[in-house]
Formats: sequence, structure tokens, C-alpha cells
Amino acid sequence: MIRDHFRVLVMDLAAGKGKVVRVDGRDEVAGGSGLGALLFAKYGRIDKPWDDPEQPVIFTIGPLTGYFPLMSKTVAAFKSPYHDQYAESHAGGRSALALKFADLDALVLTGKAPRPSALVVGSRHLELKEVHYLWGKDIQESGKLLRRMFKGSGHRSILRIGPAGENKSAMAGINVDTYRHFGRLGGGAALGAKNIKAVVIIGDGSFPLMEGKDYPRLFQAVYEKLTATDMMQKYHNLGTPVNVAVLNKLKALPWRNLQATSDENAHGISGERFAETALLRNAACAGCPVGCIHIGFSRERFQTDHRFFYRQVSYDHEPIFAAGSMLGVTDCFAVLDILDVVEQMGLDVMSAGVALAWATEALEKGVITEKETLLPLRFGDHNTYEKAVQHLAYGVNDFYRLLAQGTLKAAAHYGGADFACVLGQEMAGYATGEVFFASQALGFRHSHLDAGGYAYDQKHDDQDVGKAVEFLVTDEASRAFLTSMVACLFARGVYTDELLAECLQVVGYGALAGSIDAVSRRIQQLRWQTRLATGFDPAAVSIPKRFTEVVTWKGKVDGEFLAVLKNEYARRIAEMARREDHP
Ligand code: SF4
Repeated sequence: MIRDHFRVLVMDLAAGKGKVVRVDGRDEVAGGSGLGALLFAKYGRIDKPWDDPEQPVIFTIGPLTGYFPLMSKTVAAFKSPYHDQYAESHAGGRSALALKFADLDALVLTGKAPRPSALVVGSRHLELKEVHYLWGKDIQESGKLLRRMFKGSGHRSILRIGPAGENKSAMAGINVDTYRHFGRLGGGAALGAKNIKAVVIIGDGSFPLMEGKDYPRLFQAVYEKLTATDMMQKYHNLGTPVNVAVLNKLKALPWRNLQATSDENAHGISGERFAETALLRNAACAGCPVGCIHIGFSRERFQTDHRFFYRQVSYDHEPIFAAGSMLGVTDCFAVLDILDVVEQMGLDVMSAGVALAWATEALEKGVITEKETLLPLRFGDHNTYEKAVQHLAYGVNDFYRLLAQGTLKAAAHYGGADFACVLGQEMAGYATGEVFFASQALGFRHSHLDAGGYAYDQKHDDQDVGKAVEFLVTDEASRAFLTSMVACLFARGVYTDELLAECLQVVGYGALAGSIDAVSRRIQQLRWQTRLATGFDPAAVSIPKRFTEVVTWKGKVDGEFLAVLKNEYARRIAEMARREDHP
């Protein structure tokens, strides 16, 4: 039987005690993103800083998790160390299904564990275990030990942080199982501040499926749509790295700290090159038939007997951009080597790559010296970047500690803000033009996935501000509903509102099925209200000069159009948050 409320485990880490509470609001906020904002309103402290022990770290899933494919994400909601405002980050792996099998719609962590600990949660299990011996260990080592310590079925999911999270870097992510991440906006530091090295979710329960023929019939239809469309082709075969060559050709791939948007050596890091030479296998999140996760290998020689050992490293368009083109690295194995170190340190790859690209240009221009970087950072020199990634994670000196809090924070101290590639946070791998730049700079998560601005740029060369902003606002609302369902956004072409309504209806959420539009806008508004209440001022957002120097397929970015677009989008966001009526 489905519930009309949320079942939430609230864990007080200081007391080592948890209780399951009932939270109403299913028909108002659905789950996922909407539930994150609802729970932050209940347990969050807008008046206190991100690392106050009272501040919650929240994990939520959606109403279709476990019932339909690709409803595979977990939403993490927390106050971000990056900007001290409300934030969301999304990850897949086995986390969502494990929470479902643990009979939970959400997990809320409050307080601070007295010592480094691992939280173990199951449907009949709750334990806060001291693990001081894991503190300081990298992601691979801690993963190995945690898997041994907490044996579980296929429904076990392990969330953990690396040295970056322990050192409270605002670029620290939370690694999920082996190849997925809550990457952006410092979720790893939010857990580190609570002395939580790992959260182990043991999906040791079960739940009944719907009786009758309607559910299996619809499931089959959804499954066929997901596997028969070109989505499978796009995401399974070359995967998102197919974008590298496409964007490079379109003059939309950021190179060497966005000093260029295409390069003749892009073929060395194209999706095709990865697939031909470095791809080992594909993997998938639990419950996903697509399997978009591409795993390549990184090779290292033992000092003692010169034998090689191999490490499996996942790659996608964004990591290739961040550790490849943005750093001027044009060999796919060199990119995988950098990604391997980023992974072990528990850093968000986009933030780290873009920050180091800025540091490289700042060093070239004499804004900083090797006294700060400790290394002769040079575009294309992957060995030096591997060391710099470790410096960033461990915060080895004042410079790296400040850079780990955000590129603009370092630029404010040392200079070089004009060429900091920051759009709300370190940019994503699309230099497509004005609409994307405004979209990421102002977007709720400062993510390329908040709205399809990058796709809009590729299809429109007009300068219609009203049309572009309307697109961003409408697209964001529909994505906010999808992320409240916790759908993988790769499935957004399949999970239309009509199909989602059918899925919700068949599972038993009839009221939600009949009010998708209103609920989407309510969630969108609630998220913005929460964000603005914690200090976000859309009107104060500025876009660094570098973004107006970019040349795309449409020609040079029009700084005036970008400014008008940004101001209008900021006005609409403030308006959404102000509105008193809940649609
Ligand atoms: S398409 Fe990829 S990211 Fe999405 S659920 Fe499947 S494996 Fe996970």
C-alpha cells in the first residue's frame, strides 16, 4: 500500500538516536526536490551558518522510486559551504533503491557526531559506529573497508566522503557506491562538518507491487520506450562524451580556462577516442536498463617490479571537459589519470578542474606565483595537475585552502576575477552562449541541468529576451517536477507529464497525477523561497568578463544581450519567490 504521507528517519547524530516521523505534504510537494525543501523548512536553520551542528543534511527519494525504471536519483538538500545558502545535489547509484527498500522516503541528519562515524540505516537497523580509523582515508580505501564491515545484499548503498570533505572544502562531493556522486556545492563538507565519513543504507526490507494487470502493462510500455528510443543509443553507446567533438565543432567547448572554444586536438579526448581505446565496460544505476556509465582504465606502474596495475575510472562529458579541455589536456589516458585522483580525494571534478584552470592562467599572467601554487601549473601538463588536485583536497597552504572555497574567493584575494570561469559556481562544460551563461549563473543549483539553456543556444540565434527567459522558467518548473519524482534527467524525453500522470495513477497517487502543472510550479516556488530566505539575491549576480569574450558559432558573445537576459531572469526568479499564492 502506498502512503499519503512521507516516512522520514530523523537522526540526531549528537545523541546517536533516531526516530521515524510522519510528514504530511505528499500531494503538495511530491518527493525528491520538493520534499528536500519541505524538510529544510522544518529542520533547517536559515539564521545559522552551513556548518552549525543544527543544520540538517537531507536525503530524499520520490513516489515512483522502485516502481518504474530510471526513478533512480536521490536528492541531497543542505546549506552549502560554497555560498552558505540552501542547495540541492543529485546522485544515483543504488542510493534511491536502497532507501526505498529501507522503507524510508527521506533521511534527515541533524547534530554532529562526537567522533568520526559511519551511520548505518536499514528498515530494521540503525547504528552510529565510530570509525576514526577511516578518517583520512581516500575514497577507494574507505570503500573497500566499509564494504567489508557492512555486508549487505544488492540493495546496499554506501555514501562516503574523501579527504576534501573531511577538510571542509566547498568543492567536496559525496561519492555514492563506486561511480556516482553528489558532486556540486560541497555536500561532502556538509557531512564532514558532522563528523560523518559514511552513510551506509541497507535496503533490507521489501514492498508490494500493485495487483492487477495495469501496472505490469504500463511498466512494460515504459521499459520499451526507454530502451527502444534513440536515448539508449545516445547514452549507452558513446554516452555523453559524444558531446566533446560536437561542441568543439560548434565552438562551444571551453578550452584552457575558456580562452578558446575549440581546438584542433579535441579528437584526443573525444567520446569516439575514449570508446576506441580506453573503454572497459558500461555500468548502470540500480533499476536502469540504459547503463550510461562509461568506465575506462587508468594504468600505473609498481615502483618495485615494474608491473602495471589498473584502476577503473568512470568518465562522462563533464569530467572530460573539466580534466581535459579546460586544462588543455588532450590525451584520454591523461584525463583518466587526473579523474582517478579527483575521485580518490572526494572532490567535485567540475569545480576542481575549473579552479585549477583559473590558477594556471593566473600563474601565467603573474597574478599569483609558484609561492602560492607550489607547482609549475601549465596547461596540458597532467602530471602536475594530479599533484595540484591533492593540494586542493588537503588544503596544503593558504592559497589552496582559499581556492577550495571557490575560485571567486581566491580571485577576490589575489586578483584575476575577470577570468574566473564562475557562473554561480565553477562553470559546466558548455560555452554555448548567452542563454546558458545566464541560466547557470542564476539557476537554482547553478547546474547545466537546471534548465536547457545550452540546448536553447544551439537552436536559436535571435535575441528575444522574453522568449528565452520564458523558456528557462517553464523548463525549470518541469525539471523541478522530474527531480521531485527523482527521475534521471536523461529520461526527460520519455517521462512526459502525460506518462508521469499514468505512472502516478497506477501506483495510487491519483491526486498528484491530476495536478502535475500546479505541483511543478509550487515546488519551483518553494525552492526559490528557501534559497532566497537563506541569502540568495538574484539581482546581485554578476557574470565575469571572460564570458563576454567568448566566440561561439553565433559569433562573439553579446555582453549587452547577456546583461539584459540576466537581469530579466533575475527579476522573474525574485517574482516567483515573492508570490504569495501557491499555485
Ligand atoms: S541513464 Fe545513466 S545516470 Fe541515468 S539512471 Fe541510467 S545509468 Fe544512472
